[in-house]
Amino acid sequence: MIDVELESVSKRFARSAEAAAVDDVTLTIGAGEFFTLLGPSGCGKTTTLRMVAGFYFPTVGHIRFGGQDVTRLAPNKRDTGMVFQNYALFPHMTVAQNVAYGLKVRKVSRADTSRRVAEALAQVHLDGYGARRIDELSGGQQQRVALARALVIRPRMLLLDEPLSNLDAKLREETRTEIRRIQREAGTTSIYVTHDQAEAMAMSDRIAVMQAGRVQQIGTPREVYHQPANAFVARFIGRSNVLSLPVTTADATRVEVALPGGGHVAAGAPDGHGLRAGDTALVSARPEHIALAGPDDPDVIRGRVTALEFTGMATHLTVDIGTEDGGEVTVAAVDVPDRVDVGDRVGLRLSADRLWVVRP
Ligand code: ATP
Repeated sequence: MIDVELESVSKRFARSAEAAAVDDVTLTIGAGEFFTLLGPSGCGKTTTLRMVAGFYFPTVGHIRFGGQDVTRLAPNKRDTGMVFQNYALFPHMTVAQNVAYGLKVRKVSRADTSRRVAEALAQVHLDGYGARRIDELSGGQQQRVALARALVIRPRMLLLDEPLSNLDAKLREETRTEIRRIQREAGTTSIYVTHDQAEAMAMSDRIAVMQAGRVQQIGTPREVYHQPANAFVARFIGRSNVLSLPVTTADATRVEVALPGGGHVAAGAPDGHGLRAGDTALVSARPEHIALAGPDDPDVIRGRVTALEFTGMATHLTVDIGTEDGGEVTVAAVDVPDRVDVGDRVGLRLSADRLWVVRP
């Protein structure tokens, strides 16, 4: 188990006229931690992972493993195991030969190799599959072979780049549980790259949310969900509604804002964000923290339903609240009466203890 440190790491590609792919990233990953880089396509997560692996060197900044500077160390000297989206297995070899590959390169004896390969296959619940050909396996099984191949060398660190992207929805969920179980058992420090916020939330000890090469927030799944640092994080994690509302009063921990149809509601704000009465606050309201009410009830935001989706657990409503910025609010409500339909006028009641003020 080893910790990883990135200190002011940036990467600028020579032929790219664009801004830095990774821009001044500083973070520390604890020994044994499952840490996820999460963000939309192009935000720099793969580039960050590749710098940790040694496939790219940072333009500036330092990377340390257990205090040792590895910034410009060759990939094969870093002792990391990689798992890729496309598995990168050798299709003409058997499962056992694939898993044994890293041991062969390291000149491990035959007896030790077959013992360790059997152990690694047991670890990923593929005992008895050693003689199978790769193309005889399902996508989920292939990904577990890739994981066994990475683990068999007993790496100091596991680096996983969107390993579940090629699997269908159900298998993705099963395999993410498996990966986390295996990682916990092995205790290997892991960095996981994904653009799927649900996956990141379900698997990670901590998440770094990235956008445009920069880390927007680092926190536990609960922290990034309940206390998003800014509007980007609020919208990206759990698709929050971010409402611009005028501040009526503010103190060190919360502000009170006026609702468009009349009435007030309080929202948590760490340090008050320096907001004062008369300022506009950005208030993040999760879809499940908005209740449906009657259009004429007091202290509600009034609007008209423009879309309605029944998902089983909840009904997702899109409500046009008629603000100048074309405001639509998404609500995930349980117990929505059957008679509520597209076109209906409704009231939305924000649950005060769940609202959170975010930075722009
Ligand atoms: P995705 O989820 O689509 O893989 P990502 O968040 O992993 O995206 P990166 O692949 O790290 O993003 O790319 C970050 C930025 O760097 C993008 O603008 C990309 O076009 C650019 N980039 C990545 N690799 C190179 C390269 N080898 N040469 C030039 N530009 C690159």
